[in-house]
Amino acid sequence: MAGFCLSVWLLDASSRKDCLLNNLYNGLVVKEQSGFFWVEVADGTVWMCRLRGRLMEEAQSSDIAAIGDRVKISTVENDESGDVGVIEEVQPRKTTLSRAVRTSGNRGRGDAEREHVIVANPDAIFMVFAAAEPTPDLLMLDRFLVAGERAEIDDIVIVVNKIDLEDPTNIQTRFAPYEQMGYPVLYTSAKDQQGIQAIRNHINGKLSAFTGPSGVGKSTLLNLIQPGLARQVKSVSKNTQEGIHTTRDSALIKLSDGQFGAGTYLADTPGIRQLSIYDMEPEELDAYFLDIAEYVNQCRFGDCSHVNEPGCAVRDAAEARHISRRRYKSYRKLRVELEDALAALYG
Ligand code: GDP
Ligand code: ZN
Repeated sequence: MAGFCLSVWLLDASSRKDCLLNNLYNGLVVKEQSGFFWVEVADGTVWMCRLRGRLMEEAQSSDIAAIGDRVKISTVENDESGDVGVIEEVQPRKTTLSRAVRTSGNRGRGDAEREHVIVANPDAIFMVFAAAEPTPDLLMLDRFLVAGERAEIDDIVIVVNKIDLEDPTNIQTRFAPYEQMGYPVLYTSAKDQQGIQAIRNHINGKLSAFTGPSGVGKSTLLNLIQPGLARQVKSVSKNTQEGIHTTRDSALIKLSDGQFGAGTYLADTPGIRQLSIYDMEPEELDAYFLDIAEYVNQCRFGDCSHVNEPGCAVRDAAEARHISRRRYKSYRKLRVELEDALAALYG
């Protein structure tokens, strides 16, 4: 009991007598700032919480809690300084959008990489690119897709914005392979307000994250989805510093427009641009290229890297254009990246 009062006492010495310990509540982490977590519970109340010390005792290879985590909290009601709580338990994550961070001082067993959770349990991720201005960086898209597949995110959506600026045939040539792989591709023009309802329909009732290079029209699209949304997102991320030794703010923004059902959240995800592929073996990569994965078991060698082995079905398929050559090039490039990263880690 004293522990709960202490947390209140730290915030407001005069109000510790008002401590009242309640039951455990299930909640959703909607904001993180400077080691504190804001947790929304079923009645809509948001409690500012710290982590129970016990959760921090063991060395962690991942963040203990992050936005999107489902948690159990104990709460202390307090008139003076507002309601506060303690995260007692973090539910196992269904999915995680994360990136690797290098640890500088190698303590203990010397793990040199750990997982930094960008958002836990996202239902959908929207990868926004422009049809033109800037020219779509398809290698970046391919890297995002690998990260999304690896994270087992159910709903990976490609948004192609600024379709008003490019010849439809060129747009088709670039993005048709992704449709053939089964990804939903939404074609939009924020300028002409085209395709916006399709995005709204897709985010309804879900926890979504938007990502993509700058200048592709994300802010403009967000404001069309709900007025003021881009500003809300920016106000969260403007103080954000990346890196493991600096604090990191991130938040889920609840979409409140009448057209969205309960549980519609947008993750503000600073740092997602540098999305790297966490803890992946080079041999795993082919499974996350859905177009390449189809051919893998036809290769002569079970451990085929699909780069220069004889009897490689993937290479044959690329030569015959059953797999887009550009996608095959992306695969080879990312494979080299993963091998280099591995060599740097253990070599
Ligand atoms: P963000 O960096 O991804 O958030 O991109 P912004 O929303 O700031 O948009 C970058 C620029 O592209 C702005 O000048 C927008 O007005 C413009 N823009 C956004 N969407 C469209 C579009 O569909 N068509 C055209 N032609 N311009 C757009
Ligand atoms: Zn092969």
